[in-house]
Amino acid sequence: MQELSNIKVVLVNTSHPGNIGASARAMKNMGLHKLALVDPKDFPSGVAVGRAASAVDILESAQVFDNLEAAIADCGLVIGTSARSRKIPWPMLNPEQTATKVLAEKNTNKVALVFGREDSGLNNDELQLCHFHVQIPANENYSSLNLAAAVMVICYELRKTQLQLLDTKESQEDEFWDQEKATGEQVEHFYEHLERVMIAIDFHDPKNPRQLMQRMRRLFSRIRIDVMEMNILRGILTNIEFSIKNRQK
Ligand code: SAH
Repeated sequence: MQELSNIKVVLVNTSHPGNIGASARAMKNMGLHKLALVDPKDFPSGVAVGRAASAVDILESAQVFDNLEAAIADCGLVIGTSARSRKIPWPMLNPEQTATKVLAEKNTNKVALVFGREDSGLNNDELQLCHFHVQIPANENYSSLNLAAAVMVICYELRKTQLQLLDTKESQEDEFWDQEKATGEQVEHFYEHLERVMIAIDFHDPKNPRQLMQRMRRLFSRIRIDVMEMNILRGILTNIEFSIKNRQK
């Protein structure tokens, strides 16, 4: 069966190395291989190796990053997991929809599935780096799964959907789009540029930011602009900067 090589599982700031090992095992069981660790508290670790069983190769090839932005810099689709709903509503998927979306896009876009800390999950800034949020519909009175169990549920959904697609011989062609989507890194540069220009035209006051940048992030996340569209927007922002400068002369 086709490897899910364009899909990475990202574990953010994990406290217990056992959870890293158990997540690696769950991934390998379900046919995923790429693990990224953001600022893990204890890694490499013998405890992780013990819990990984025959998935030690995944730990050995895991990439470690300082922050989530760096881990998703090459990704065109980023999906964050969350045990509870947040203040600003964000496009939500259930695990089945997540699997369908990821498999439909995996050949055109690198995909990140992002999991949070054992105690506090993903923070708001991290959640805003994600295009979609997925919540496993667990018991409303106790909805927080163990980290590795949540990794297993999402990876199992991917596996199940992949098997169904093969079974029914449905087309595995990507959703047709003529351009690649902008990557995390390109999008971050765009937000910096947008913020700079909004300040320059007195639209945005960084001392009183309200939730402007979060709302901008949500807007562009929802659209998921492609590389060509991103270049156009960057071009517009650059021209705005030019004409401000020229007027000041
Ligand atoms: N108290 C934290 C829960 C952390 S559980 C919170 O409220 O977010 C550790 C991680 O496991 C979460 O960050 C998420 O990645 C995953 N997880 C746990 N339960 C989940 C659920 N019901 N849906 C989606 N992800 C879940």
